[in-house]
Amino acid sequence: MANAKEPASCDVAIIGGGIVGTSAALFMARAGASVVLLERGPLAAGASGRNSGAIQHPLGRLPAELHRRTVSIYRELLDGDDIDLAGRPAGALILSPDVEGLLRVRAQIRREAPELESSFIAEGETQKLEPALATGLAAISLATGYPVAPSAATLGFARRAKAAGAVILTDSPARPVIENDRVIAAELESGRRVRCKQLLLAAGPWTPELVEAWRAVPPIRPVWGVVVALRLVQPPRHLLFELGIAEQETMTSTQFSLVTAGGHSGLGSVFLEDEPDAASVVPQLLRRGKTFVPGVATAPMAGVRTCARPVAYDGQPLVGEIPGTSGLFVCAGHGPLGISTGPATAEMVAGLMLHGSSAPLEALPELSPLRYT
Ligand SMILES: Cc1cc2nc3c(=O)[nH]c(=O)nc-3n(C[C@H](O)[C@H](O)[C@H](O)COP(=O)(O)OP(=O)(O)OC[C@H]3O[C@@H](n4cnc5c(N)ncnc54)[C@H](O)[C@@H]3O)c2cc1C
Repeated sequence: MANAKEPASCDVAIIGGGIVGTSAALFMARAGASVVLLERGPLAAGASGRNSGAIQHPLGRLPAELHRRTVSIYRELLDGDDIDLAGRPAGALILSPDVEGLLRVRAQIRREAPELESSFIAEGETQKLEPALATGLAAISLATGYPVAPSAATLGFARRAKAAGAVILTDSPARPVIENDRVIAAELESGRRVRCKQLLLAAGPWTPELVEAWRAVPPIRPVWGVVVALRLVQPPRHLLFELGIAEQETMTSTQFSLVTAGGHSGLGSVFLEDEPDAASVVPQLLRRGKTFVPGVATAPMAGVRTCARPVAYDGQPLVGEIPGTSGLFVCAGHGPLGISTGPATAEMVAGLMLHGSSAPLEALPELSPLRYT
């Protein structure tokens, strides 16, 4: 049956109700565009509702810039009821018994991101800083990391987008309709169309399925993760990561992370090409987790989240108009850092769609979908 609230037309249709789609809807609705967002499940059904919950500073000039702008957006547009980024970050610890490895990474972080105020914490000192930790671990401490409940920012953007006039339809799988190399509508499963002047694809790892030219060689692939929510007696204050978690070449193994937000500690994660059977991954995560935080062994489990990271082949999101189809835009491919960088790119694409300018950030060729044609 057709959704009664489904408008016949709009300026901009958005497919995908994750962090990117909902923040883009807010930017565009506030700028005066009529916006219809179509989400095939509930809002935040994908990674935006199932992530580890760490807003963190990535390495690399461009991701760091996107992160800084994202933090400003959170502070400007959301408030403490959604996520609280008012004070200093909680801090992150990169952990390992491998002191040489930690010092190597620390040297890189000092070069690439001196603002992270990285410092080395020797074995024996780490437990003074974070009593929940196991013995035998040294750490690098970083001035980054805001823990947030996984879906909080997405739901906060969606609420504000609605208040600004955007129409948000859930349980509404959609696809773009192209005629004469121009997007003309978003089509729902029922066959009904919402006519639009422009359409934004923000469908995370599923985005390439919606672009004919990308089906054979998708520029974005899903990398599946699992997070176990635990009720730890002594939850760590810092965000905890295993040394090596940011390195692409470790993408098939289990990598420890623990982020306490929204009343639970999210223990992660794996990096898998195919959707895993969570029941077989959970024991693996618990086994690894207790070598870093012994309390993991006895903590009651509050839930398990499985979802796919939208990983672009060159590691940078695709932001801009898709070559060959006028009016069809994309903002997707933020990998393991979409909560930390997504809203800045949504702001860029909203500006490009409405005014032809991505200000305040520059639309760099590294982000352009042109690199995949
Ligand atoms: C285990 C794990 C932990 C993570 N931890 C962190 C973290 O701590 N910090 C961080 O910054 N990032 C983290 N991430 C990454 C982050 O969650 C993602 O990069 C981000 O959520 C992607 O947002 P998105 O809006 O692009 O995509 P998604 O959240 O995947 O949203 C896309 C939406 O599109 C919808 N959709 C798909 N196809 C259609 C269709 N045809 N019609 C309508 N709707 C459709 C989907 O249902 C989905 O809701 C993590 C990811 C994983 C998997």
